[in-house]
Amino acid sequence: MSLDLEKIRGEFPVLHQEVNGKPLIYFDNAATTQKPKSVIDALSNYYQLDNSNIHRGAHTLADRATRYFEETRTAVKAFINAKEDNEIIFTKGTTESINLVAASYGKKFLNQGDEILISAMEHHANIVPWQMLCEEKGTVLKIIPIHDNGEIIWEEFEKLLSERTKILSIVHASNALGTINPVREMIKAAKKWGAIILLDGAQSTSHLPIDVQELDCDFFCFSAHKLFGPTGLGVLYGKRTILEEMPPYQGGGEMIKEVTFEKTTFNEIPFKFEAGTPNIADVIAFKKAIEYINELGKPVIKKHEDGLLEYTVGKLNEIKGFIPVGTAQEKVSVISFNINGMHPFDVGMMLDANGIAVRTGHHCTQPLMQRFGIEGTVRASFSVYNTQTEIDRMVESLTKIAKIKNR
Ligand code: PMP
Repeated sequence: MSLDLEKIRGEFPVLHQEVNGKPLIYFDNAATTQKPKSVIDALSNYYQLDNSNIHRGAHTLADRATRYFEETRTAVKAFINAKEDNEIIFTKGTTESINLVAASYGKKFLNQGDEILISAMEHHANIVPWQMLCEEKGTVLKIIPIHDNGEIIWEEFEKLLSERTKILSIVHASNALGTINPVREMIKAAKKWGAIILLDGAQSTSHLPIDVQELDCDFFCFSAHKLFGPTGLGVLYGKRTILEEMPPYQGGGEMIKEVTFEKTTFNEIPFKFEAGTPNIADVIAFKKAIEYINELGKPVIKKHEDGLLEYTVGKLNEIKGFIPVGTAQEKVSVISFNINGMHPFDVGMMLDANGIAVRTGHHCTQPLMQRFGIEGTVRASFSVYNTQTEIDRMVESLTKIAKIKNR
């Protein structure tokens, strides 16, 4: 099945505008995707018809809001094939999900000298929480090095595994390079040493089928806003047996069973980890984003995006001075590059003048940029609503930009 691009584009209101006098081309999807009308309407409908606090009220609106909220949890469970609804915890985003694991699991189960393994291509969200834990507990952060093409060096990864490896926390697909890591094999290898596995699925969940049971990861994190859902909302999946052993992350309402001034008992999962009034409207609207992806089908989405990526790489390779950063065999639809001798920010500004939105800079992966000896890159990242015609316009602009430098 191929995509009806006109219909799809019609569902995303934001795409239909001019920027700097040119039709907008939105190629910053790895930062955040645009929202279909069904998600926008769900947000507005919730506030117009259903607004109420959840899980507590003995009235109709509260019941309705609670039901819709919990329906999203069930939809998320199915979306990533978790076993139970209570393994799905709503957070602010991938960042908070990883912080929750580091703070809660890390504090309880990690000891001085234990090792946490991450890769050289991690987002700051999968570096800093572990560094903070290391600082506090005397655990040690180990880094899996990568090849020049942006793939992890398997032999080095294997060498780093040992009985000291307590956590492997790895990005499923890199936001800066597009590399899809061989997580299935990595999980198997790390499990042999008894490590707990966290996958940062911020960039993979919108493109690749996710089956947490088949992957056998212990934690899986992602953000709603990168898959057509609202901002400020994320998911932490955790295996029930592990979540039950973990102490709460924050204290407050919702997460308690009973409170006295002497002692508090905590609620069951997932509520134990959802202190305070949650992001109700966004959770409810997120279900529409999941339905949107399910209706199109991830394999169809991926095929379209892969086609765009291949087409772009072919065209950009013809530009004199084009330097790709990240040429792994397996990639999501992210292309990072530089134009010889030009600052990525300048390239981004010139593209913006033509209505083309890309991201420039270090993409929250400063150690990765250091690994490549560069300050940053220009990054174009595609989604289901992007077209070949849009790519032609970007290639045309970049050809002109590169000529300025080569003159
Ligand atoms: N990890 C990766 C790979 C990402 O791309 C991002 C977002 N750029 C994050 C983590 C953090 O996600 P959020 O800002 O939504 O918490």
